Amino acid sequence: MKNKIVLGLLFIIFLSTFLCCEKETINKSNSYYLTDSTKDIVKKDTSKIKKRKPPLGKIIESLPTEEKVIALTFDACEYKKPSYFDYTILNFIIKEKIPVTIFVSGRFALRNKDELSKISKYEFIEIENHSLSHFNHSELLNESDFVNEVKENENIIKEITGKKTKYFRFPGGNYDNKSLNILKSLNYPVIHWSFVSGDFSKKITPRKLYERVIKNVKSGSILIFHINGRGYSTGEALPLIYNFLKENNFKFVKLEDIFE
Ligand SMILES: [Zn+2]
Repeated sequence: MKNKIVLGLLFIIFLSTFLCCEKETINKSNSYYLTDSTKDIVKKDTSKIKKRKPPLGKIIESLPTEEKVIALTFDACEYKKPSYFDYTILNFIIKEKIPVTIFVSGRFALRNKDELSKISKYEFIEIENHSLSHFNHSELLNESDFVNEVKENENIIKEITGKKTKYFRFPGGNYDNKSLNILKSLNYPVIHWSFVSGDFSKKITPRKLYERVIKNVKSGSILIFHINGRGYSTGEALPLIYNFLKENNFKFVKLEDIFE
């Protein structure tokens, strides 16, 4: 009887030691992702990726790679109402130094001039072209108005950031052959998204947003969210999404890291 009690106690001690160590390992592996040396490893890994020439005159919906690489993209749109940066999202990107591409519209750029200029200095943030006035139907514009939507925004962003935008995203995702051909003649590849995150809906909870992303994400995915205050759950969901992707060995790239 006495022996049984001793054995039982030994077993409990063994089990609690094992569980304790297991917990320790999990904690260590989580924090591992946030160290500076890991960031260097990620940087080195992405620098090995071979750049490809993006096709012109078509919509690009994924990255040309079989590797576990994804592009995290955000839209900074302003159409009818004044819009501002979502600081929960922006601060998280800066804190973790996450490579991201932000598609900015001209009105948004002018309204958020100082902040845009500041963040464009970070080498992990790329700013691209999302049209001047964010009119949601580029297909309804005549040629010169559409050219103006692209070039005028290019000028505004260049004035603020000192860099010329290289890629375009249609406001609302609407386009026709004419607008696509105009972008081709202006040497602008069009980058859209692999699946809609739906973060512009007030009905989507952070948990739902996270689940939708982890269910659909795969190698080469281009993820899309909003950083203009219209990504209602994005700020809360982003750390969950980011940690999931890191833990599953996805690497983050800006568009200019993968396209020429
Ligand atoms: Zn937009």
